[in-house]
Amino acid sequence: MEQNKIEEIVKKVLGELGANVSASGTGTASVGGAIPQTAHVAMLTGIEKMEIKEFPMPTVGDDDILVKVEGCGICGTDAHEYRKDPFGLIPVALGHEGTGEIVKMGKNVKTDSAGKPLKLGDKVVTCMIFKDNPDITMYDLNKQNVGGADVYGLLPDDDVHLNGWFSDYILIRGGSTVFNVSDLDLYSRVLIEPCAVLVHAVERAKLTNILRFNSRVVVQGCGPIGLICIAVLRTLGIENIVAVDGEEKRLAFAKEMGAGKTVNFKEHKGIEALAGAVKDAFGGKEADFAFQCTGSPAAHSNIYKFIRNGGGLCELGFFINGGDATINPHFDLCAKEITLVGSWVYTLRDYATTFDFIKRAKAIGLPLNKLVTHAFPLEDIDEAFKTNIRMEGLKIAVINK
Ligand SMILES: [Zn+2]
Repeated sequence: MEQNKIEEIVKKVLGELGANVSASGTGTASVGGAIPQTAHVAMLTGIEKMEIKEFPMPTVGDDDILVKVEGCGICGTDAHEYRKDPFGLIPVALGHEGTGEIVKMGKNVKTDSAGKPLKLGDKVVTCMIFKDNPDITMYDLNKQNVGGADVYGLLPDDDVHLNGWFSDYILIRGGSTVFNVSDLDLYSRVLIEPCAVLVHAVERAKLTNILRFNSRVVVQGCGPIGLICIAVLRTLGIENIVAVDGEEKRLAFAKEMGAGKTVNFKEHKGIEALAGAVKDAFGGKEADFAFQCTGSPAAHSNIYKFIRNGGGLCELGFFINGGDATINPHFDLCAKEITLVGSWVYTLRDYATTFDFIKRAKAIGLPLNKLVTHAFPLEDIDEAFKTNIRMEGLKIAVINK
């Protein structure tokens, strides 16, 4: 018998044991005896100050899910909070790009937020925590992004404390969005949240009605966001992609991710020369559409020069306030009749769509998992954040073992 078959059976038996034992007790199902008395949470307790705190394992209510955390990516938002506490959340358990395995769940929990059955041992991710805004909670494409909703990893501390994914356990409370993603490997699951940002951005871009199979598309900025953007475009059948960045290593990765040509902006002095280089890369034509994936105001000002008359632009680089950018409304927007869309976070529908995007990207050979360039254990979380801030590598993750 195969090893994983045996594990499956053991898991099932343990699961049933847990369920039976608890049927007469707490009303929750759990994997018998495997859960420790305490959990460890990386708390941001001051500016650039992470401490691993130990808390008693909380009671799992009838609608709750206890998850043993396997890993969590560091997001730009986490780094922002770590450096400056702009959200005023300290002390806070950070980490929202996390995933792990269900080890205990309340008796009312039967399915995930998409209706897929949930059982012990399933791998899950969370999205937002429901509030009473029907526009956010409705499962409607582009109805409203979840930007105003609560998420684990950006919650005020409370008496449960297990509120972020930089930890060994997290308590998912009833009313949260949770998805069963057992069919994805660990790194793919860590990448779901940033990928959802791009699935949403491309959905926004499609609303302009300019993107076509043979469109010339420029992607400016080849950090994780720009690189995933290229991958999403490739899964849509868009192949004429030029990537722009200032680092050769990132540009080389952009090619692996599916960009046909690359332009290093450091090799071109001034916007005229840079626009000329982008045009050359498209064989003497301007781009039909552009994605702006950097947080640089100058990059926003420049990108209009890459786009043809009647073309489109999706601005998604300013996840946080990066300051004002200057454009010339006459030359850049009106005279060229540019169709501009902004994009921020994602809708719930985009989140669920992302699971399929990841499978499709892998099926056509795109090396998505290579985006995770660094994996640190929880106790080295400070070094993980510092690596992120030094802008080394691409996606920095905390991986529990
Ligand atoms: Zn994020």
